[in-house]
Amino acid sequence: VSAVANAEERAFEAGLRPHTLSEFVGQGKVREQLTIMLEGAQARGTPPDHVLLSGPPGLGKTSLAMIMAEELGVPLRMTSGPAIERAGDLVAILTALSPGEVLFLDEIHRIARPAEELLYSAMEDFRVDVILGKGPGATAIPLALAPFTLVGATTRSGLLTGPLRDRFGFTAHLDFYHPDELTQVLTRSAGLLGVRLTPEGADEVSGRSRGTPRIANRLLRRVRDYAEVRADGTVTREVAAAALRVYDVDGLGLDRLDRAVLEALVTRFGGGPVGLSTLAVSVGEETETVEDVAEPFLLRAGLLIRTARGRVATPAAFEHLGVEPVSDPLG
Ligand code: ADP
Repeated sequence: VSAVANAEERAFEAGLRPHTLSEFVGQGKVREQLTIMLEGAQARGTPPDHVLLSGPPGLGKTSLAMIMAEELGVPLRMTSGPAIERAGDLVAILTALSPGEVLFLDEIHRIARPAEELLYSAMEDFRVDVILGKGPGATAIPLALAPFTLVGATTRSGLLTGPLRDRFGFTAHLDFYHPDELTQVLTRSAGLLGVRLTPEGADEVSGRSRGTPRIANRLLRRVRDYAEVRADGTVTREVAAAALRVYDVDGLGLDRLDRAVLEALVTRFGGGPVGLSTLAVSVGEETETVEDVAEPFLLRAGLLIRTARGRVATPAAFEHLGVEPVSDPLG
């Protein structure tokens, strides 16, 4: 994907982002817990505890971090694990934080080890020890930091080391959204974009959005184009279905990676069982990507199961791909 497309996509997403917890659709329990936490902190006049958000991409982790900062009326600083290669990168960010600021650290499980170790004291005591010099003559200079709230995001909290996980006062897991919730997301987005979307049109799109608000919004954009070019501009069920056919979005909304994984499992490995790393190699992806990005939805959709001997395609997977099962893969 080109950088231009990415910038456009980011601008589009930014325009649709919820700004308050009440605008944030679904995830009722997490929303309630965060509301209480934020109100408690505000009443005490201290920054809230550090928050760890886990869950597949596109479910609202970044949005929640932005909402927290907005509701607290404090600035937000955004960075990511892969962007912090050396401890010094993190020191520069931490020492520049203003009191109460929210620091969003995306893909926190990918932070470099020396930086992670610095994060421990930063989170616990708002202090970092900067090491000056090398070898026996090296000295540690303690630097006080302004109190801040770290919001870490990860596709899977199990990827974090124990000491890092323990330093979060609040951990929440975001789950895939119910189609009714995605219908709400779509209706809200259509309102913001000025798209005429009928309730049936919204249902058609929400059922194929892979349980993910980001995908729902993305599909809305495609469907809007189609409605404007090939119809009278209104997104009805028929228009939505026709548009999604053109864009190869299947009935379950599986994306390219989901389909590749499922097809490899069903056709190349006869439905499994096959080890995760073998499956990942066969689709040319990192094991971690397959496990964190594709697998959660395939599991949730009942297309794949994990067994002690490896991944196995369910009869529903064969049916979805229109492939005759060879034999019972578990037999
Ligand atoms: P993540 O950080 O988990 O990858 P984001 O917070 O970037 O996900 O969400 C992607 C997009 O999906 C956002 O731009 C936002 O418009 C939309 N979105 C996510 N969660 C919600 C929600 N609960 N309600 C409304 N829109 C949402």
